[in-house]
Amino acid sequence: MLTAEIIAIGSELLTPERVDTNSLWLTDRLNRLGIEVKLKTIVGDDDARLEEAVRDALKRSRIIITTGGLGPTEDDITRKTVARALARRLLLDERVLQTIRERFIAMGRAMPEINARQAMIIEGAEALPNPHGTAPGLYLEHDGRAVVLLPGPPREMRPMFETYVAPKLEAKGGGVRVVRRILRVAGMGESAVDERIAPVYTQYKNPTTTILFNRAEVEIHLTARAASEQEAELLLDGLAGQIEERLGDAIFAFRGETMEEVVGLRLAVGGYTVAVAESCTGGLVAQRLTDVPGSSAYFLEGVVAYSNEAKTRTLGVPPELIARHGAVSAPVAEAMAEGVRRLTDADFGLAVTGIAGPTGGTPEKPVGLVFIALADDAHTEHKRLLLPGDRQLIRWRASQATLDLLRRRLI
Ligand code: ATP
Repeated sequence: MLTAEIIAIGSELLTPERVDTNSLWLTDRLNRLGIEVKLKTIVGDDDARLEEAVRDALKRSRIIITTGGLGPTEDDITRKTVARALARRLLLDERVLQTIRERFIAMGRAMPEINARQAMIIEGAEALPNPHGTAPGLYLEHDGRAVVLLPGPPREMRPMFETYVAPKLEAKGGGVRVVRRILRVAGMGESAVDERIAPVYTQYKNPTTTILFNRAEVEIHLTARAASEQEAELLLDGLAGQIEERLGDAIFAFRGETMEEVVGLRLAVGGYTVAVAESCTGGLVAQRLTDVPGSSAYFLEGVVAYSNEAKTRTLGVPPELIARHGAVSAPVAEAMAEGVRRLTDADFGLAVTGIAGPTGGTPEKPVGLVFIALADDAHTEHKRLLLPGDRQLIRWRASQATLDLLRRRLI
């Protein structure tokens, strides 16, 4: 397989404030073109280090892609440093300069003189237009290697790669396509999933399978290699189908969708509405449901009823019920679900009450004990969960189980 390396440039990428997402996105795109990424480097805005990184890259990789540092300011060093590493000159490209000038004029401003730097092109390179920003990208071939300079902002980098770089690299790709698919599983642990599906996936060398645990869910990553994307998709369909036979409804997503997207889609397709009453999750279920664009079609209302009084006043939970069973109990969870449904006239009422910790647990009701409930016009059901993890994780897992309860009802 053809190999590539990526150099992400920018001192901010070495701090906790900014994560280098460009290389992850590029890796996925390159894999799809049949190009394997062997190495990635993050370099701060430092001439010497960057020059060294580019020189090293030229020794070992056929394709080198940099992102960032193409801006107009003094600390945007990529153009001149890469030129130095390649021992090529930087030349002013009048056509590029004109394009940048016109972009400023279109915005009703004069071009600041420092932006002229962005029209400096490495000798022999092709300037790649940037409709979403001022900095053009650069593409050049050097001793049989492709060197590509892309801007840092993802909204500039991505379309430039798709439009101008992918077609050039595709021609070099050697015909292998790599396609990935993520299946997501709810309500089962990593080893339980592996036990059920290992007999299936170990039969396959292609696609390959990786099982990952991610907060409240197990992810099954499938990677297929084939001569075309369609062929790779067919290979993935084959294995995914067999895994589905083994795991059934526990798989909630076949294309990497989130739980809230899956639940939202089912609600929208069925024309149903939902309202949520939350105690220990403090609004997380409502937040996740409303994270999905278009959720106003099915999400009516969320109530965070943290205190016992709120459970009674807003949701109509009888005080005797709380006194007899405690706020964290199956009857109270069910009464909350019925209460929020009554309050809002939603088709489904969801509720969650539990002990997220780290304090507040007792031997009978330990930290991690959570009751979730779902009410519709016919009946109300609940589930008792004992969730491991710290406060954040317990809240997240409780929200996941609550959404999953509704998903299973909607199947
Ligand atoms: P511009 O001329 O538009 O500023 P640039 O090529 O100079 O482009 P940078 O100044 O290096 O880009 O980065 C601009 C912004 O782009 C950064 O603040 C950051 O938000 C984002 N960015 C840069 N590199 C990456 C990366 N590797 N992953 C994700 N975001 C990035």
